[in-house]
Amino acid sequence: MIVAVGPYRHLRHGKHARLVEHEGRILLPALLNCHCHLELSGCAAMTDREVAPAHMPAWITELLALRASRSGEDDTSLACAVLARQHADGVALLVDIGNGLRPAASCHDMTRVDYYTELLGLSRQATLLALQVMQDHDDGHNFTCHAPYSTSAALLQAVKERAALLRRLYPLHVGESLDEVEFLATGHGPFRSFLEERGVWDGSFAVPGCGPVAYLERLGLLDELTLCVHCLHLDEAEIDLLARRRAGVCLCAGSNRFLGVGRAPLAEMLAVGLKPCLGTDSLASNPRLSLWREMNILADDHPQLDPALILAMATWNGAEIVARSELGRLAPGGSAHFIAVAYEGSSPLEFLVREPHVKDVYWV
Ligand SMILES: [Zn+2]
Repeated sequence: MIVAVGPYRHLRHGKHARLVEHEGRILLPALLNCHCHLELSGCAAMTDREVAPAHMPAWITELLALRASRSGEDDTSLACAVLARQHADGVALLVDIGNGLRPAASCHDMTRVDYYTELLGLSRQATLLALQVMQDHDDGHNFTCHAPYSTSAALLQAVKERAALLRRLYPLHVGESLDEVEFLATGHGPFRSFLEERGVWDGSFAVPGCGPVAYLERLGLLDELTLCVHCLHLDEAEIDLLARRRAGVCLCAGSNRFLGVGRAPLAEMLAVGLKPCLGTDSLASNPRLSLWREMNILADDHPQLDPALILAMATWNGAEIVARSELGRLAPGGSAHFIAVAYEGSSPLEFLVREPHVKDVYWV
């Protein structure tokens, strides 16, 4: 634990004080990756190419086909390699989402994985099956839902109710594509065709006729434990709603850029007091899983933004959202497992956030 922070001349006489030099390095709190799917670490072929699929449903179709073709493969070593890379990047905590009941990789030295099993299903039958899975694992396991366009209202509410009872985070994909917005508003578009083609459209889904956040609000799902991931296509009232409900927002700029789905309305979010955290998403939608690169892309997408705010998104904002206040800051009471980054230049913040090259990270 960090006992005190201050200039050398104040701290050098401290009890048991021992001097360790970090010359040429910036001391920083470790990073938090608030959205990832380690389970998809074997799907790098999805992003190892120049052109992404035409739209989200096409990407999901490809992903499902790839996963089906790899169903016999053990991807544990690939997931462990991704996690080891996160550790090398200085990530202390990773919020990992998967369809299985166990994480593809669970911890690596200083890097901890908080794992959530994601449930989904729009049809009556899929809803009942998912509810059964949750009932069969009523041992404090973390469950969450995929997205408002893929999960029935009954399932969204049942999983949230349980998560709220256990005071658990409720992360879900929200407003990731215009196809999602169209489907929720009208019940039509590429997502409707996708569901019909897969034979999972049974007509029981009551089309909300509004945006994704307005829909979540109507279902009573927005509070400080709900973490809305992506949040690209929200209107002004929905952004305001997120702030009023103190809901969390997680941005995945690298994944959004690869899929070509748009950019988060970051200035509008910050204007209403939202404090987004960052996630890499998976190798299926992001060719490189690095929070340093995520910061870099955000700085590139939003050149007016103060780099200190972007660094806070990768550290303190994430720690607040996952309620781990010992992380994300260098202050008395904070975790002593922090990082040092090799540095040269004139502005440390510019170097950390805007410089695109790979960072040399040391755990302290
Ligand atoms: Zn995701």
